[in-house]
Amino acid sequence: MPIQLLPPEVADKIAAGEVVERPASVVKELVENAIDAGARQIRIEVREGGRRLIRVTDDGVGIPPDELPLAFARHATSKLRTLEDLQHIRTLGFRGEALASIAAVSHLTMMTCQVGSSSGSLIHLEGGAQVRRSEVGMPPGTVVTVAHLFYNVPARLKFLKAPATEAGHIHRVVMHYAMAFPEISFNLKLDERVVLQTSGNGSLYDVLLELLGAETCRQLLALPEDNSSFSSAQVSGYVSAPSLHHAQRDHIILFVNRRCVQDRLLSTAVVQAYYTLLPTGRYPVAVINVMVDPAEVDVNVHPAKSEVKFREPQEMFRVVQQAVRSTLLAKTTPFQITTHLEGNVSTPTSPAAEREWRELSHFGFEVQRTLSVDEETESPDTRLPMLRVLGQMALTYVIAEGPDGLYLIDQHAAHERVLFEEMKCQYAAAAVPTQQLLFPVLLELTPGQAAILEAERTTLSQLGFELEHFGSDTYRLHAVPEVLASSDPATALRDILADLAESGALLARRADERVMTTVCKRAAIKAGQSLSLREMQELVRRLEQCEAPCTCPHGRPTMLHLSAAQLAREFGRI
Ligand code: ADP
Ligand code: MG
Repeated sequence: MPIQLLPPEVADKIAAGEVVERPASVVKELVENAIDAGARQIRIEVREGGRRLIRVTDDGVGIPPDELPLAFARHATSKLRTLEDLQHIRTLGFRGEALASIAAVSHLTMMTCQVGSSSGSLIHLEGGAQVRRSEVGMPPGTVVTVAHLFYNVPARLKFLKAPATEAGHIHRVVMHYAMAFPEISFNLKLDERVVLQTSGNGSLYDVLLELLGAETCRQLLALPEDNSSFSSAQVSGYVSAPSLHHAQRDHIILFVNRRCVQDRLLSTAVVQAYYTLLPTGRYPVAVINVMVDPAEVDVNVHPAKSEVKFREPQEMFRVVQQAVRSTLLAKTTPFQITTHLEGNVSTPTSPAAEREWRELSHFGFEVQRTLSVDEETESPDTRLPMLRVLGQMALTYVIAEGPDGLYLIDQHAAHERVLFEEMKCQYAAAAVPTQQLLFPVLLELTPGQAAILEAERTTLSQLGFELEHFGSDTYRLHAVPEVLASSDPATALRDILADLAESGALLARRADERVMTTVCKRAAIKAGQSLSLREMQELVRRLEQCEAPCTCPHGRPTMLHLSAAQLAREFGRI
């Protein structure tokens, strides 16, 4: 075929494909326009997963009648004039192609009326071509109705999923905007059923209560409002206490300048903040907004604007990781034992929240009830209270009493945590105590193990492993970290190499931390070991000194708490 310019209708459809992938993309673009128009209330109606109808109604500024047709021209926007403006973009839209793209692949009607004007105007387009224009009576604001989406793009139509699946995507999109804009009231109707409604009172917590339910919200911790000391970026929102976690990452919802983004870097920052607080392979719930100077971030990476590029990604990573981590360390309380009675107490969730949970599970989200955290989660409780050791149970658990009830401490997990934090301090001070071996141990490694050992040799030596190369893949071990003095040094080192070799770890953890975790696991007291009262008191005292005493370095609980109030309820005392 000779080179030819594409006819405009073909070019338009191809371009439309980048912006309008599925019904949820239409909802996203229309909701963004409503937000940019300053709406206080946004209503979204969807029929048959958006295939039949999508209608977005807002009470924003509207469009002057003479500009209306222009809104549907490609690259027509009121939000940007020069390339320079792109540096300071504060609106969600700026590319001026959403309306053109949506109109190209549907039957679209827009009715719009400016505040103060007596009547509004209507425009109807089919496949991008204007079919009708007229005057209409309506309140100020804009109503966009998109019908027969993809009627002229059979390929797209064929790839649409079942209406329930498409509705699920739409639901998620609206949920995200409702979270990013708590001052706007959102209402989403799927086939005549209201599935989402927010008040627009400005409180993110209220939105989360409405969308995620009371059970989840009870386990959320607020990030401190003022973290400006960290950097130019402001981080705000909520993260789950370590008692609440899911098998998937998709409960981590991130916004940059209130724009929902898919950003691996930031979500990894969140996951890493939970390091040693969650079991591996489990992910927290997080709703986080990062506000940065628009010049620091490029939002024009992709037509759907769901990806961003930071000028200083490392700095963003650090700010988010620190904000989350410090909140977790400051506010995490011990895991609560859920007693029979408590389990049956129905939680006062709103009808909308109940509905939400059903919806979410219906759309394949995992809904999980976990150990419930006491109502006092919000109160900062940095350290463990002073505990009095009562005794040992099953040679595995230390039983202790605190100011608020009973604590069951897993002796192995607790000791792991203690050793881990102590070793981390020693490592930071470059003062890990070592133990010289009486007889150096000869280690014959596989070439793979040897390669890993070579790569991490400095770290290993800083952590107390004194090694000498002894020809080909053989090494001589002269010293080990002191905590390992009573274990078999060769097995310990092989264990560490095996752990370092384990590739595909979702969390690219640092080698030094992995080594420390493995060392402490080996060195910690095992279950089945009898402890004297003295030893148990010593263990608990050291645990009280820990930064994160409630979980072991693998993220499992070190202790369970049965509160005095719970006991009183169980025994029918109150
Ligand atoms: P962009 O949002 O990138 O500017 P769009 O194609 O989405 O491009 O919209 C084109 C223009 O139409 C916008 O710049 C805005 O001026 C106007 N517009 C679209 N939707 C609305 C709305 N709901 N209320 C007011 N103006 C709107
Ligand atoms: Mg737009």
